[in-house]
Amino acid sequence: MRATQLFDTGDIRTVDVPVPEPASGEVLIKVEAAGICGTDRHLYKGEFPSVPGKTLGHEFSGIVVDSGDTSFKEGVRVTCDPNTWCGTCDQCQRGRVNLCVNNVATGIHRDGGFAEYCAFPASKAVVLPAELDPVHGAFCEPLACTLHGMDIGAATAGEKILVIGGGVIGLMAVQIAKLAGAEVMLMTRSAEKQALGLSTGADHAVGSEEALRDIWPEGADLVVECAGVSATVATSPKLARTGGRVVILGVLPQGEQVPIEPFDLLFREVQMHFSFLNPFTHGRAAQLVADGTIAVAPLISRTISLDDAAEAIASPPPKGEVRAIVVPEKRTG
Ligand code: NAP
Repeated sequence: MRATQLFDTGDIRTVDVPVPEPASGEVLIKVEAAGICGTDRHLYKGEFPSVPGKTLGHEFSGIVVDSGDTSFKEGVRVTCDPNTWCGTCDQCQRGRVNLCVNNVATGIHRDGGFAEYCAFPASKAVVLPAELDPVHGAFCEPLACTLHGMDIGAATAGEKILVIGGGVIGLMAVQIAKLAGAEVMLMTRSAEKQALGLSTGADHAVGSEEALRDIWPEGADLVVECAGVSATVATSPKLARTGGRVVILGVLPQGEQVPIEPFDLLFREVQMHFSFLNPFTHGRAAQLVADGTIAVAPLISRTISLDDAAEAIASPPPKGEVRAIVVPEKRTG
């Protein structure tokens, strides 16, 4: 079968490898769709720890074609929660499973979804409806991470919520905030993504802090940072109103520092939170994608073949792209 593997920093290729055999407790999944995430590009550039020779892809879904020694039904469509927590470390024992020190991430530590087939732990596979558009299944993982951030932010009806960054995470945060009954503003630079934000539920879309202040001079009750750049992380607490809250979902490179003014945060009692991965949210994400409550079709910029995946991961996303989805059945050209 074909699989897109990272051999070293800057060396990613789609190669022929044997179809994996499911180990005990695993099923074999015929991958239908796998999203290319910023983390895949970070892994390629050596900005995120990786394991050489592994198949990348942690946002994927497909059909169970071999249930191995599990009771899983063959032929069902599943979405894969890539994080397998140990359940025994101190953090797991406290219920903080996303902080598990032994987390095994499919698509990083073990072979992932940029392949025709993937052997996967049955306990982390969540069933999706047979009638779902197969490409939509790839959005459950980023939605699960966004749900965790929005749970932390605890949006309530009538609040003003600012989402910064109009990528997949931000555009999903906009939709979740709208479902909570909030007035929602998306701040992102490109006109295409502002338009996408408005069409997926934002009440306002702006490209700058000045434009935001024109509409909400006091700032937002909740700021959700989904751009993952130091400038927006630094500015997020300033855009929260007095007594407001901030949730940072965006990932900055390890070691990067950002100026924060504790005096301002203290005197205005602005709460700052950080959100990591998808603890216990994958099932809810699958439900929201399956019933169409969260619209994912507008977030699909293009579908590509496995043979085109390596180049797509090695290159910056084209202007205006939200998500490229690898469809293993698709042929190049
Ligand atoms: P993405 O596709 O890169 O989207 C980020 C968007 O932010 C870009 O589309 C860009 O759109 C916008 N942006 C960049 N600089 C900006 C600025 N100065 N002001 C306003 N907007 C700006 O990324 P994504 O997949 O949506 O993910 C978002 C972040 O979440 C990333 O850092 C990712 O690593 C992180 N993430 C975190 C978790 C977690 O568990 N915490 C999980 C998944 C992903 P414009 O060009 O329109 O500005």
